[in-house]
Amino acid sequence: MSKEQSPNLHPRTRAVHHGIRRSQYGEMAEALFMTQGFSYDSAEQAEARFIHAGPDEFIYARYGNPTSRMFEDRIANLEGTEDAFATASGMAAVNGALMAIARPGDHIVSARALFGSCLYVLDTLAKFGVEITYVDGTDLQQWKDAIRPGTRAVFFESVSNPTLEVVDITGVSALAHEAGALVVVDNVFATPVFSRAVEQGADVIVYSATKHIDGAGRCLGGLICGTRHFVREVAEPYLKHTGGAISPFNAWLMLNGIATMDLRVRAQTASALELAAALQGNPALTKVIYPGLADHPQHELALRQMGAGGTMVAVDTGSKEAAFRTVNALEIFQISNNLGDAKSIVTHPATTTHQRLSEEVRASLGITPGLLRLSIGLEHAGDLIADLGQALARK
Ligand SMILES: *Cc1c(COP(=O)(O)O)cnc(C)c1O
Repeated sequence: MSKEQSPNLHPRTRAVHHGIRRSQYGEMAEALFMTQGFSYDSAEQAEARFIHAGPDEFIYARYGNPTSRMFEDRIANLEGTEDAFATASGMAAVNGALMAIARPGDHIVSARALFGSCLYVLDTLAKFGVEITYVDGTDLQQWKDAIRPGTRAVFFESVSNPTLEVVDITGVSALAHEAGALVVVDNVFATPVFSRAVEQGADVIVYSATKHIDGAGRCLGGLICGTRHFVREVAEPYLKHTGGAISPFNAWLMLNGIATMDLRVRAQTASALELAAALQGNPALTKVIYPGLADHPQHELALRQMGAGGTMVAVDTGSKEAAFRTVNALEIFQISNNLGDAKSIVTHPATTTHQRLSEEVRASLGITPGLLRLSIGLEHAGDLIADLGQALARK
């Protein structure tokens, strides 16, 4: 059985203890229940469980598993939502949340600046008769003009990938709720450490746990956080029948990741700020984008909403040639496309994560040929600053 933790305890304490379900052995570490199924004592018990499964009763790992449930309980507790459903990946969470909500003929308003795969999910919904209106997520007037009575949901990344635009959760939620629309927030860049999305008005919060929650680039996972009704009555039926559940092994790795998440994310954020500040004025860069810097267009909003600038920095080197030269000269930063990893990562979005988009769409999103996305890891900030310094100095 799981032991409830007092909500008065600090998140770091709850991140270590909350949601543990101990077996009869009283194990200290969270147990890995590597099982797809569960045996019943009798035919009557099996029948009863299919009619109604209690919180500690399981049927099949596609529906739920004790290790996955520990992971769900712990994240829901940290996020401040009643419940959470763990998914196979962040995209399974985005797809699951939106597919479970939308019906043909519905209207969804979305920020335009989105991760490429999120755009694909919205394109799929449009294929099934859902009308999508795209807006500049940072412009509340555009949200106001686009949301109408009967709008089913609004969707946005609270901090956009890769251009780090910050969307006002409180402002958009007020407009959406006035029209009766659900607010679905992809909160990956904010991380559960800095998120206060529930108190700011979000109804459904989705995460790619692949990023900061795992924190070591080991496995895929995702989460849909919301009210018990939304998670269990709206999202779960869709997810459990379409196969979006997380592997218990991945949930177990994620549970271990959460214990150190607060320490990691705060250390990575401190380094990101130090690095962004050090890069300002570097003659090889036309732009340094970091929500924690005073010159970021939504700096004050970022501080109000998250209390910090996060672990991601974007820089513009001016051209694809300069970007590639820099990427190839880096020694500590790894060339990859994950983020939130303990290892620092450099990504050239225009030719990788956002390659699928047309040049016009990329330009409208601010994804210029010279843009580099930096995910700041756990290495010493001085080493990272020196690495970028030497790479940017190459001619
Ligand atoms: C990575 C990412 C996703 C997708 O998550 P996966 O775990 O890779 O499926 C969705 N949204 C954002 C903002 C992301 O960064």
